Amino acid sequence: MPRGTTGGASGTTGGAYATSGGEFQSPALEQLVRHLQVLPGLGRKSATRIALHLLAGGEHAARLTAAIDNALRQVTRCRRCGAITEADPCAICTSEARDPGLLCVVASPVDILPFEKAGFYRGRYFVLGRLLSPLDGVRAEDLPFDRFLERLDTDQVREVILALDTSVEGETTALYLQRLLAGRELRLTRLATGIPVGGALAYTDEATLQRAFLHRQGVDRA
Ligand SMILES: [Zn+2]
Repeated sequence: MPRGTTGGASGTTGGAYATSGGEFQSPALEQLVRHLQVLPGLGRKSATRIALHLLAGGEHAARLTAAIDNALRQVTRCRRCGAITEADPCAICTSEARDPGLLCVVASPVDILPFEKAGFYRGRYFVLGRLLSPLDGVRAEDLPFDRFLERLDTDQVREVILALDTSVEGETTALYLQRLLAGRELRLTRLATGIPVGGALAYTDEATLQRAFLHRQGVDRA
């Protein structure tokens, strides 16, 4: 069989139901596989394995669809910090035990988790949602910097801690924030090295994260 007629299904959500090889005789199964294979990290092979598992019987498929349905209805984003939550504002933003003067800037809501798991951080967060990437057309106006500056005032933030990935995009965003905060009466710090270069913050172990936080460094804002 020539290459490209079978596994090359990456990204194809195909129109006509092809009769060429590599597809199931059931259009319904084929559609399920195609919906699964557009999920991050899944190719056709994994999508097929999951689809067959779901169809193999048992309660799992029904519980999964119910869980997806429930999550779609319940899960939202905190309007103040951008965290994933069911209550808006979220528990971190409203907690009296958290210091509103400390604001940790992260790229993704997932990046909050290692901090909360490690448990040493008593401030609050601000989720940017994405990082600046001029090459991919992600510019400053695409990020919630207005809301961020507003937050600095309403919470009388004393220290902004940059906890961004050490990728090119993370560095670009950190530099932008450095300039944005120039002249402001607050301390700007960033996590010390120790976070793997190009590594995703969300997958950094707790000890490394805590060390990087404790040794965070002041950032010049020229
Ligand atoms: Zn919040």
